[in-house]
Amino acid sequence: MMGPVLILLGPPGAGKGTQARMLEEDFGLVQLSTGDLLRAAVAAGTEAGRKAKAVMEAGQLVSDDIVLAILKDRMAQPDVAKGVILDGFPRTAGQAAALDKLLADAGQKVTAAISLEVEDEAMVARVSGRYTCAACGEGYHDEFKQPAQAGVCDKCGGTAFKRRADDNAETVRERLQAYHAQTAPLIAHYDRLSVLERVPAMGSIDGIRASLADIVGRVSA
Ligand SMILES: [Zn+2]
Repeated sequence: MMGPVLILLGPPGAGKGTQARMLEEDFGLVQLSTGDLLRAAVAAGTEAGRKAKAVMEAGQLVSDDIVLAILKDRMAQPDVAKGVILDGFPRTAGQAAALDKLLADAGQKVTAAISLEVEDEAMVARVSGRYTCAACGEGYHDEFKQPAQAGVCDKCGGTAFKRRADDNAETVRERLQAYHAQTAPLIAHYDRLSVLERVPAMGSIDGIRASLADIVGRVSA
């Protein structure tokens, strides 16, 4: 019997990657990302890996069946005995149902689907205000962290700054809308199964980490 099977959901900027790494540290969980799993299966030349390779070489999308077969192989390995965090799968309600079936066949289920919840407009302000020193990379923010002397980097005295093109308000808003549209069916699916955990994710990294630790402690008990 394996430890908890967690699904971690969160929009870009919510700190999902950071929190997944902390769950690995805190609980010995292993994050399984679909992209990594596919690459590893192809490299290892497993049956599912060979199928995936053929499909990708034909320029097509790898089917859910192949991804599930790869996931099943991976979850049978001993290093994930303490539990897993799934990243990038499922993406649709259909995939979620297929995953439920795969787990049920092994006497398991999704233990918790954790949704990192952000306030969209606050997230837009947070992300779209970011900029960095062009010379040393020090991070600044229009609202939250201006240099002590306007236009001069606190750290290196540089006077040139840069912004990522995709950090503007409109793009951030679009990313959030796309995220909500994509995850709404998943949220509904896991809510129906009573395994949905909503975690406010606008606070400090350590605060979110503590909330996640509470959940994992509770569902693992
Ligand atoms: Zn600098």
